[in-house]
This record gives sequence, structure tokens and C-alpha cells, in this order.
Amino acid sequence: MDPRATDAIIGIDLGTTNSCAAIATGDGQVTLIPYRGGDPIVPSVFAIDDKGHELVGHEAKRQWQLNPRNTLYATKRLIGRAPRDEIVETVQRSVQYRIHAGERNDVAVDCHGQAFQAHEIAAKILHKIRDVASDHLGFKVSRAVVTVPAYFTDRQRQAVKEAGRLVDLEVVRIINEPTAAALAYGIGKRLQERILVYDLGGGTFDVSVIEIRDRVFEVKATGGDIFLGGIDFDDAMIRHLLQDFRSRHGIDLAGDPVAMQRIRDLVERTKIDLSSRSEVPFSIPFITMTAQGQPLNLECRFDRATLEQLTRPLVDRTLQIVGGVMVDAGLTATDIDEVMLVGGQTRMPAVQERITRFFGKPPSKGVHPDEAVAIGAALYGWSLQERSDLKLQLLDVIPMAIGIEQAGGDLHVVFPRNAPIPNARAISATTSEAGQTELVVRIFQGDQPETARDELLGEFTFSGVRPGAPGEARLEILFEVSVEGILSMSARDLESGRQMKTTVRVASA
Ligand code: AMP
Repeated sequence: MDPRATDAIIGIDLGTTNSCAAIATGDGQVTLIPYRGGDPIVPSVFAIDDKGHELVGHEAKRQWQLNPRNTLYATKRLIGRAPRDEIVETVQRSVQYRIHAGERNDVAVDCHGQAFQAHEIAAKILHKIRDVASDHLGFKVSRAVVTVPAYFTDRQRQAVKEAGRLVDLEVVRIINEPTAAALAYGIGKRLQERILVYDLGGGTFDVSVIEIRDRVFEVKATGGDIFLGGIDFDDAMIRHLLQDFRSRHGIDLAGDPVAMQRIRDLVERTKIDLSSRSEVPFSIPFITMTAQGQPLNLECRFDRATLEQLTRPLVDRTLQIVGGVMVDAGLTATDIDEVMLVGGQTRMPAVQERITRFFGKPPSKGVHPDEAVAIGAALYGWSLQERSDLKLQLLDVIPMAIGIEQAGGDLHVVFPRNAPIPNARAISATTSEAGQTELVVRIFQGDQPETARDELLGEFTFSGVRPGAPGEARLEILFEVSVEGILSMSARDLESGRQMKTTVRVASA
């Protein structure tokens, strides 16, 4: 197939820290789309400079030390989230820009005096990737398969689709990042294997157990944490450095955005260097001044053992999640043929050692940790095109339960976690009060029994119920989850046959 066909569908890995795009050129060959003839990576960073210019990608990252308040990064952690205090607080602690509750029961971020919703920033990044791809390919790209963490909720998936709509990029399909990595590994090899994808990127952790039967990719179970990634490894190092500096000089650097951004920058580079070296000097000159006006430097030597000790709880947590997913899939370590590592943070030797110990064998070298997701998305995009002869079957699952709120606040589960998608289920409902003409259903997603601890997906109001005694009305509510993991609902009055359909809209608080 000619890759320059203008209806081509590219694959986009929209990452927390870095994004990457690829296109299939036929026969399963995929090219990563380079940025200005070089690196395929576009940092997922957006900024507005002093003059009011918008910058995206490398240009934005290059100036982030000098403009920390107006440089937005890791906003993927906020996309499609309700403004719960702990989320805002957790992210606010590790970034220098301001985060607050938005107007649509979501999270907003400030940049150069303007408030943006998180998906608007995703839209800016998608726009940039589309422009880079269009320049490289010589036509305007208008369609893409975009990947999301398997552990994204319905609401987060919808937010990514909306981001595409904002920049006129049709997101033809959303697929899960580990599933995309499995496609990159397995297509064209006639495999009969059960693999586990361990995906530890900049901001999120995902794990999926996937059965590959030639061109059928069936997810058996998935799990993850969308607040566990390389940034948390950086944060652990930063906390250690700040504490050390405080005890030596009695000065807390946490309140100084420029100092914090300089530290974050060097911490990440040091962490990456420590994957190939056992000790690295760490030095930032003139980080601050004493009360007497004396300049102070931040200097130490960072060694691999210290990094491993500081981040051990994070690696432990990933393995706990892996254990849970194995239990869900009804498997033990020996049932896994290959372990696939995806995401930049899996380059850390301690991560690889712990996985080797867990599974009793080293992880596979079958995929490139930074590129596999974009490659899988591109291959999937290619399979969706009419002219393609690649026919794939992707059988994915819902990452966490979806249900409705019962009287008393508990979750009535409609789809349990790991239910296959697409899927549909009907439940019956009725009125609880005499004369009631409206039925309001609140839909939640999460694995906690109390809805207060789950994520509100939205509210569905079925009006025009025939008034009567409590329990007299007979309604049927049908829940459907698409192949992309997106929920829609319809309700039917079983007596009148009247029907109402909607995708679940996020309720305004
Ligand atoms: P990704 O989202 O897959 O691009 O992963 C980015 C994360 O991987 C960032 O937190 C990086 O700091 C981290 N990372 C990249 N390369 C390495 C490396 N060699 N060792 C440890 N972490 C790395």
C-alpha cells in the first residue's frame, strides 16, 4: 500500500512525557515519523513564552527551566479527571504550573494567564504531531489511531477523542498501550504465545496479559496505576535532595520554581545516566543565596544504590499490580511465555532484575521500549484501511468495573473489571417514590465498593416516566461498551416502549 495515500491512518503514542508517531508502509513495515529529520520523539510539553508565543515539544522543553510557571508537562495525568483534592495535590507537588478545579467538573491548568482544560493541552500536542507527520509525509494527515493507558477510564478515553476533534484529527480508534506493544511484537510471526506486557512510562504503569494466536490478540486481564511512572522516580530523588539541602543549609528550595525546575531537569538526566553507570556527579551551581547573599551550589554524588533504595517502594508497587493481574487471569509466572518491557523507565536495571526474579527468566528483547506502542498503533491503523490485507482481531477488556450508584452510595457493578469488550448488559430499574416522573442514574468506574472512592463518569436522566406507585414503572437500562472502551447507555420504558439513548456525559459538579 502506498503510505502517501492521503487517507492513511497514522499511529500516535500520546505519552505523559514523550509522544511519538509512526506509519505503516505495507507488508508490516513501519516507519517512525522523525521530527525535522531526526529523533521521532516529541516531548509532551506545551508552553507560552514571555511574548505570548505558543511552543510545543522540543521548543517548549528547551525553555522550561526559565519559564517554569508557564510550561505545562505531564498534563496527561490530569486528562478526564474529576478535580479530587488528592489528584490536584499530588500533581501540584511535582509541577511548577498552577492546577485547579475547572468549570466542567474537571481539572484545569494555568499558563500565561489563561486556563486550559487538560484535554486542550493534549489537543495542542496532537496538533504538533499531526503537523510534523504531515510535513514528513507530504500530505495533511487527518486520521489516527491513538493509544491510551489500558487503565484509562471511559471518561479519559472520551477526553482523548475530544482532543482529536478540537484539532480536526479524526481519532479512528483508541487502543490500549500494552495491546499496541503486543501488536508490534506479534504481527506476522504466526505466534501462539501468552505474553505479559509491563509498561512503565513517564507517568503511568500498565500491565496486560495477552494471548496471541497468530492474528488474534486477546487480552486476558489488565491492571495498572495512572499515577505511577518515571516522574515518581524523579520525585523520590528530588525529595531526597531537598531534604539533604535543608539539613545542610536550612533552606527549603521547594518554594523556588526556577530552582525546582533546574533540579527536576538534572534529576531526570542523572536517573537515566544511572541506568548505565553506577555513580554520577550531581551539580547545580548558584541554586540559591544565603540570607547574607552568598551563592550556594547544589552538589553531591548520586549512586545507583541510593536511587534503588529511594525507588524500591515504586517497583514493589508495580510487582504487586503484576501479581494481582496474574491472579485475575488465573495464571502463575510459569504460564507466561514472554515478558515484554515497554516505556522508558523499564531501562532501569533494578526494574529488569526484579522482573527477572519474579518470572524466573529475563524479559524479552522483542520490542523497542520507546517505539513499540507507536509501531503497534500504526500497524493497527493500517489494518483498518480498506486496501489493507492485514486482518487483525483485537479482543480487549474493561480495566476497572463500571456500575451505577445504589441508594446508600454503594456501587452496583454492571461490568466487572476485565469484562471483554465490546460488551452490552441490561439491568432493570424502577421508581422509588410515588408519582416520580424522572429517574436519575449516576454511573461510576472503579474497583472500590463505595462510589465515593470511584470516578464519576456521568449522570443519565430518564424523564417522562409515567407517574405511579413506587416500584410500578418498569424500565430497562442498557449499557454498551464499544471496542474502544467507551460507554453509551439507553433506557426503555417497558410499558410504553419509549426509548432514550446517550453517551454518558460528564456531570457538572
Ligand atoms: P516514556 O513515557 O515511555 O517515554 O518514558 C519516559 C520515562 O522513562 C521518563 O520518566 C524517563 O525519565 C524514563 N527513562 C528514559 N530512559 C531511561 C533510562 N535509560 N533509565 C531510566 N529511566 C529512563
